[in-house]
Amino acid sequence: MLDTKLHKVLRTTKKHISLLSSLGIHTVLDFLSYYPRTYTDERNTVPVVDMKLDQLNVVKGRIKSFHVRKSKSGMYITEGIISDSTGSVSVIWFNQRYLEKILRTNREYYFSGKLKYDKGRSVFVRPKVEIVSENMVHTARIVPVYHETEGLISKWIRDKIYTLLKYADLVSDTLPDWVKNEMGLCDLGFAIKNVHFPSSQRDIEVARKRLAFDEVFSLQLKALKIKRAFRKSFSGLVINRADEAMKKFAENLGFSLTKAQRRSLIEMLNDMGRGVPMLRLLQGDVGSGKTIVAALAALNVVKSGYQVAFMVPTEVLAKQHFVKLRELFGKVSICTEILTGATGDKDEIYSKIASGKVDVVIGTHALIQEKVKFKKLGLAIVDEQHRFGVEQRRKLANHGFPHLLSMTATPIPRTLAMIFYGDLDVSIIDELPPSRRKIVTRVVDEGKRDACYKWVYDCVKNNGDQVYVICPLVEDSDYLEEVKSAKAEFKKLSNGPFKGLKVGLLHGRMLSSEKDNSMVQFKAGNIDILVSTSVIEVGVDVANATIMMIEGAERFGLSQLHQFRGRVGRGEKQSYCFLLASKYTPEGVARLSALESNHNGFDLAEIDLKLRGPGEVYGIRQSGIPDLKIASFSDNELIKNARKMADKFLTLQEMSQK
Ligand code: ADP
Ligand code: MG
Repeated sequence: MLDTKLHKVLRTTKKHISLLSSLGIHTVLDFLSYYPRTYTDERNTVPVVDMKLDQLNVVKGRIKSFHVRKSKSGMYITEGIISDSTGSVSVIWFNQRYLEKILRTNREYYFSGKLKYDKGRSVFVRPKVEIVSENMVHTARIVPVYHETEGLISKWIRDKIYTLLKYADLVSDTLPDWVKNEMGLCDLGFAIKNVHFPSSQRDIEVARKRLAFDEVFSLQLKALKIKRAFRKSFSGLVINRADEAMKKFAENLGFSLTKAQRRSLIEMLNDMGRGVPMLRLLQGDVGSGKTIVAALAALNVVKSGYQVAFMVPTEVLAKQHFVKLRELFGKVSICTEILTGATGDKDEIYSKIASGKVDVVIGTHALIQEKVKFKKLGLAIVDEQHRFGVEQRRKLANHGFPHLLSMTATPIPRTLAMIFYGDLDVSIIDELPPSRRKIVTRVVDEGKRDACYKWVYDCVKNNGDQVYVICPLVEDSDYLEEVKSAKAEFKKLSNGPFKGLKVGLLHGRMLSSEKDNSMVQFKAGNIDILVSTSVIEVGVDVANATIMMIEGAERFGLSQLHQFRGRVGRGEKQSYCFLLASKYTPEGVARLSALESNHNGFDLAEIDLKLRGPGEVYGIRQSGIPDLKIASFSDNELIKNARKMADKFLTLQEMSQK
């Protein structure tokens, strides 16, 4: 019954059915799951004499008289008089000719709308009209208000959903009683009825609590099922701890690991040592040193006789990791190779991978092409995992790997991680290496721009500092006139404020060899100022770069700005981050100033989330996670509980199958 197609049960037009379809609403249950956006409380009626100007008034009265006339502009105007025992009031509607057919003088109606003062008299303007009955739908109750889209108005939706409400009793409850009892949740049928047509505020809460729980519970159930299935699909590969090799590797680092790095590493080694597939997300702020932790995990895998695939989102990053890791791994006799789109002789690398000659392969998407066949893949590492789409992750999974380590520098609160990465365990590096200093961050007014350039110029000239300038666009755009582009800024800066300094350019539309060249020159110190787009965001590591200037900063999210900022402050020197806006609005500046005082990626992620919502911040559509309709991403209690219950649910289910 609930999966009955709507055209069979709704009395409406084809057009409306297809409009619903376009919203993904096909069946009775789909429509019942279209929850109200909000409610208006229209339970209190007022006598006509007590109606208040410019406020919503619900009046129970009769229409004494009315007539329709056509205005000069061709509009049909219905005018009349409404009265109750206390008095009467003028009423007006525009272009609502159907009223002629339904309004009867001396019948009782509820009228609900605003009272306006116009040309010396008070007029009830376009009130909703509904015949007084036991079952009020549109007024004289708590009225649900629905999201409207082209052609589908809230009133129409309300009308239709009301006719479907009887089906709510047929809904079979998706939750077992023990979950409902433990969580204090109402029945699903009750929830559906009351989310649409509640009789009290309390009913709304009860209903929404249940529906919100269902939403998160089903997400958790799905994630945990994937996790359990994954765990079962691989025969356990036990990775032994290679303590000697780790010690030797660490000696060459020139620093010791932070506590958080050590803890995360141990969590991984424990995972892999148990012989169940590891599925772990390593979260850590930019510069917190994730690469080394991953490298140590890789080292153990290699020493147990297996290969490691290390996937990164960009060519620049692959190169950088490769250069660094080849050196470190070389000292403990591990063979490291790189495979990217730009790799010349790919066949040679393929055969080295297939024969097991190479231990660790660092690469871009090129790593997940079908031609790549590992001899004995033991661990897949995905760096900056938020940059990869679902599709790419799926492809990677198809390759089959006993252990998976994902890494992200977009820190998200732990409970959110349960939603976004519900199928993963999470390790967090929540401290930076001790030598790091806070990056001095300032929002720069347009008026101070020249002074800022001058200051930066002097730093480069006198101290040999290096500078990033980030622009939102590659090329100037006619549509976004005020927004700066890397190409235009490159020209402007080289001939203006930074004349005489070596200015370089880096953006996504350059050839990969050109990009590499810019990066190499910058690293080598042959470029003082690198004008770039957001391609620089990910993982790039140049210790001598100490100044970051971000143009059009208001166009980026806080988390992303924090990522940019993380490109500097990598060495011992004091670093600076200047935020320049293309438009200075009070909200924009307030948002940007959060970066001045806050240096913790987790906190900033949370602020970002509050200000912009998860859709904006994490690109929900791309990441394949459904937008929550009724639950809130910031409801930690709910998310924790739903996960706990889903886990228990699956365990019970497995037990009963055995
Ligand atoms: P991210 O977490 O952003 O990927 P990286 O792994 O690139 O950070 O590390 C940033 C820099 O910090 C690198 O140059 C790395 O060698 C250095 N580093 C990592 N761990 C430590 C540590 N414990 N002490 C000092 N420096 C460290
Ligand atoms: Mg990194």
